[in-house]
Amino acid sequence: MSYAAPTREMLFTMKEIGGLDAVLAQPGFEEVTPDLVDTILDEAGKFAAEVLAPLNQPGDRQGNRWEAGTVTTADGFKQAYASFCETGWNGMPASAEFGGQGMPTLLSTAVLEMWKASNMSFSLCQMLTLGAVEAIAHHGTDALKARFLPAMVEGRWTGTMNLTEPQAGSDLAALRTKAVPEGEHYRVSGTKIFITWGEHDMAENIVHLVLARLPDAPPGVKGISLFLVPKFLVDDEGRLGARNDLVCASIEHKMGIRASATAVMSFGEGPGAVGYLVGEENQGLACMFTMMNHARLNVGLEGVAISERAYQQARAYALDRVQGRTLGREGESDRTIVGHPDVRRMLMDMKARTEAQRALAYYAAGQMDRARGHADAGQRAAAQALVDLLIPVVKGWCTEGAQLVTATGVQVHGGMGFIEETGAAQHQRDARITTIYEGTTGIQANDLIGRKMARDGGAAMHRLIAQMRSDAAALAGHDDALIGTLRGSLERGVQALADATEGLLALGPREAAAAAVPFLWLAGTVIGGWLMTRAADAATTQIASGSADADFLNAKRGTALHFALHLLPHAAALREVVLHGAASTLALGAGQL
Ligand SMILES: Cc1cc2nc3c(=O)[nH]c(=O)nc-3n(C[C@H](O)[C@H](O)[C@H](O)COP(=O)(O)OP(=O)(O)OC[C@H]3O[C@@H](n4cnc5c(N)ncnc54)[C@H](O)[C@@H]3O)c2cc1C
Repeated sequence: MSYAAPTREMLFTMKEIGGLDAVLAQPGFEEVTPDLVDTILDEAGKFAAEVLAPLNQPGDRQGNRWEAGTVTTADGFKQAYASFCETGWNGMPASAEFGGQGMPTLLSTAVLEMWKASNMSFSLCQMLTLGAVEAIAHHGTDALKARFLPAMVEGRWTGTMNLTEPQAGSDLAALRTKAVPEGEHYRVSGTKIFITWGEHDMAENIVHLVLARLPDAPPGVKGISLFLVPKFLVDDEGRLGARNDLVCASIEHKMGIRASATAVMSFGEGPGAVGYLVGEENQGLACMFTMMNHARLNVGLEGVAISERAYQQARAYALDRVQGRTLGREGESDRTIVGHPDVRRMLMDMKARTEAQRALAYYAAGQMDRARGHADAGQRAAAQALVDLLIPVVKGWCTEGAQLVTATGVQVHGGMGFIEETGAAQHQRDARITTIYEGTTGIQANDLIGRKMARDGGAAMHRLIAQMRSDAAALAGHDDALIGTLRGSLERGVQALADATEGLLALGPREAAAAAVPFLWLAGTVIGGWLMTRAADAATTQIASGSADADFLNAKRGTALHFALHLLPHAAALREVVLHGAASTLALGAGQL
């Protein structure tokens, strides 16, 4: 169950798809030289492969142990976490103002992919901590920032997001946790469920960000506020004090990511947990929204990462397992299953999907850097509009794709895939949560067709379609047959997306909602095909200019071709589903289902 970070592929995708050179030329990244980028990728790859990957399967088997409110993590996790923090990986993506290294989102995206691929359970702790850091940095008072952020960036204290309650999952308007003002702080009481890394033994303190309602708050989402509620109270000098009034009531027994504790948190069983307001009263959801793009990019990236891990594992198995005669290769001594055309098909599907997902995630990450730091305000605004449009696609499509990739990984293993020993099943189980948390696929699709398309009349999507069309047109003069095939496939895909976009915008709200997930699939498939075409074009140029890396570059071309011939054609079918499928979805009454 080894893992090798695909640094060559990551660097290529960062450069050719994410626009790394342009990002590094932005103010603030002067010290991030190409050499430093290489070193960071190499060192992170080593940590992922040597420290985190070996803990993945044992952690899944052992899980966490809950006893009287305390949680003991799986063997080796505590030491790995200490070393992760000591070597500075925890704060790498965070702002230098609070002790982080302020790296570009594009670079930290590649590094985070390694943590997620090598050990998704472990990686969640940093992901939640950095999410909390971002929320406090944007919305907290200077005093809160000074008191909490340096220790969180360092990793001495970890962070959580406490949104979900038994009756409030996708619909946060239903949440009931209370916060009552008391002098300089508030007293928080209520029950939160499914809190990732809500309790553990890896850090001195846990800083919970909790959504709650004030006594006089308006109903619904307009009455939600955000509070910082530490496990141990902290004085002005940052010293830990008394235990706060909160406890981990239990942890869940779950299908995947078993080495990360998923906690039921009980706040205020006594006088109420001391909490500090983050942002304005009743603006809690708006505060969460400012970090939503990063959080959703990160979960989309989990889809990429777990796909990569499953692919590596399936490839290794296929190159080793001997079974049957391979058609057309009867005379050859190598009888491993990789010779069977159908096994090749599975591996190529996995590879093409994984690389297209990565291209989409890194493209969005590069646009995030552009939106924040480009010298031109118009470019910043255009990049932000593109990020807003793409994020639900990154989250929804990369995680749904991971279901297919990890399931195919099991299939490549045959019966051994169904046996836990190989680890292939764990990847499928771990991947399963990614389409559920941080907004289910249905919620992403509603966001895409509602806030991101209906609100601007489809303007951002029209701009993206125009860009894809002009890129395809620019390939017209190419005398390379493979590029010609990619171009034709891309043009058909973009036309399907354009037709579906117009059709969707004309549907009534209920019909549009019924078509939303197929539309998200369509958008992901076409954008993925577009970016793979770009990658193949760049690879072709590099080969022509005599690059020494012809093996990798030719493989990139071949993978793009597979995407164009096997996956992009699904766009035509999805167009039909979007345009005509709502009728059957809604035809039966609830009692007839
Ligand atoms: C392992 C794990 C870790 C988690 N970590 C955290 C965490 O750290 N912090 C936290 O706050 N929460 C966390 N969650 C909670 C997670 O975010 C929720 O489970 C998720 O938001 C879905 O809510 P729900 O489970 O109540 O499902 P529901 O909202 O009940 O959804 C059930 C089904 O109905 C669909 N549905 C619901 N509403 C709509 C709608 N408006 N349109 C279309 N379809 C809809 C959904 O897509 C889904 O298919 C975690 C959950 C798990 C299992």
